[in-house]
Amino acid sequence: MNIILFGPPGAGKGTQAKYLVNKLNGYQISTGDMLRDEIKKDTDIGKKIINNMNDGKFVSDEIVNDLIKKLIFDSDKKDKLIFDGYPRSLSQAKNLDLFLKKSNQKIDYIFFLNVDKKNIIERIQKRKILEKRSDDELGIILKRYDTYMDTTKPVLEYYSKNSNFKEIDGNLQIDQITRKIETFINV
Ligand code: AMP
Repeated sequence: MNIILFGPPGAGKGTQAKYLVNKLNGYQISTGDMLRDEIKKDTDIGKKIINNMNDGKFVSDEIVNDLIKKLIFDSDKKDKLIFDGYPRSLSQAKNLDLFLKKSNQKIDYIFFLNVDKKNIIERIQKRKILEKRSDDELGIILKRYDTYMDTTKPVLEYYSKNSNFKEIDGNLQIDQITRKIETFINV
């Protein structure tokens, strides 16, 4: 089963992705984690993206598309892909469709975790204490939220026509969100 978790920063995509990976023996594709790893390892990509990441701006479609390509075409991961934070722009969504078609795969569910801005701010401020992410500062959170609102609207429009698009109230508690997801994936 291939699943996309879609929603603003702090919606709980990573938490639900980890649950799904466990439940479905899946493979989490978190572009945020992959990009942070590039920065940590000080790679050429890391050097290119550090300023954008720290400013709460998106990294270029070209870089993220390239990062996920090898994972989608990896036969061990076929039909076990749990996307967390990708796609985030219309061009990424179209690119994903192309990669999936070429690798003979499809998306089974797109879960949109919809959360109020107030809750996002509260959650990310809590996460900052635990994970110490440099982009979890309040000013950057607000920027990341605005970036999300600007670029993801067309993605929502693109996916919301599909019958496998399911909106879930992301303001609920973690386990309540998990139960909602379970009712769809039937496991
Ligand atoms: P996340 O961990 O998903 O909240 O992502 C953290 C940051 O990584 C974002 O604010 C962006 O700067 C960058 N990023 C992660 N995923 C993407 C993506 N699909 N497209 C562009 N930038 C991304």
